Amino acid sequence: MADVAPPTAGNTTVEINDAIFCEHFKEVCTDCDYDGREENDAFFGYDPIDRGGLEAPPATVNKEGIWQCKKHGSTACNQCFGWKKQIMRARTVAKKAGKK
Ligand SMILES: [Zn+2]
Ligand SMILES: [Zn+2]
Repeated sequence: MADVAPPTAGNTTVEINDAIFCEHFKEVCTDCDYDGREENDAFFGYDPIDRGGLEAPPATVNKEGIWQCKKHGSTACNQCFGWKKQIMRARTVAKKAGKK
């Protein structure tokens, strides 16, 4: 009998403009032991590396249940939710730091 241990309770994730964050709006969170980098990297077409985690800006859920940025009220805001650019930047930083 295979008893699968239940996942840690209360590990809620939110999806903002196609990127996944923990309930605290963090991609890497020590509070809830969450790391969504691999998933987000794969979604945006990058090889997962040990880079700095993204952090989502203040956002609210709209009538349709989609997250939108507080600043501009946009669900696909290029400035607040420009994940691809932010991941690219984090990768550059990580690569620079890792290479001797
Ligand atoms: Zn968290
Ligand atoms: Zn915005």
